[in-house]
Amino acid sequence: MGLEEKLPSGILLTTVEGLAGYMRKSSLWPATFGLACCAIEMMTAGGPRYDLARFGMEVFRASPRQADLMIVAGRVSQKMAPVLRQVYDQMANPKWVLAMGVCASSGGMFNNYAIVQGVDHVVPVDIYLPGCPPRPEMLIDAILKLHDKIQHQKLGAHRTAEVQELEQLALAGTSTTELGSSAERRSLLP
Ligand code: SF4
Repeated sequence: MGLEEKLPSGILLTTVEGLAGYMRKSSLWPATFGLACCAIEMMTAGGPRYDLARFGMEVFRASPRQADLMIVAGRVSQKMAPVLRQVYDQMANPKWVLAMGVCASSGGMFNNYAIVQGVDHVVPVDIYLPGCPPRPEMLIDAILKLHDKIQHQKLGAHRTAEVQELEQLALAGTSTTELGSSAERRSLLP
């Protein structure tokens, strides 16, 4: 039995917000951006065993203009940081960033002058994935959580209300970790 049989008279009601979120989460294309060992796990996730194609995401785009998800898979060197930023800037909006692994998220064990201590120093990050290396199952779990976040992303007047609420929380001195991802904080707060 399909969804059609359950609907009264074939009518389906939703909101523009819900529909936009559904379409956005169902059409994510990742940019090709493997930087180190984590990239091997990312490639495995695209293979037949884990099958990212289930989500229509198996085509890693070589052009940032055709991608709306950057999976930062591996440590980011100081030399690579401006390149990463340029690729991010060339991606079309709306776009999302997934920091894959402890190195991309915080520098990990590479606490030295050559490695950026967290890619959120360079681009806003929507979701952090821990582990060294995170297994493909973990990457898929993070992608599903990102899908959920995109599905519930606010638009229009709802987004304005959300921004005002975040500003009030910031003025009240609420911890920034309670204000959502760094992407939301940077894009929404003055
Ligand atoms: S988190 Fe581990 S597997 Fe991933 S890039 Fe760093 S050292 Fe490599």
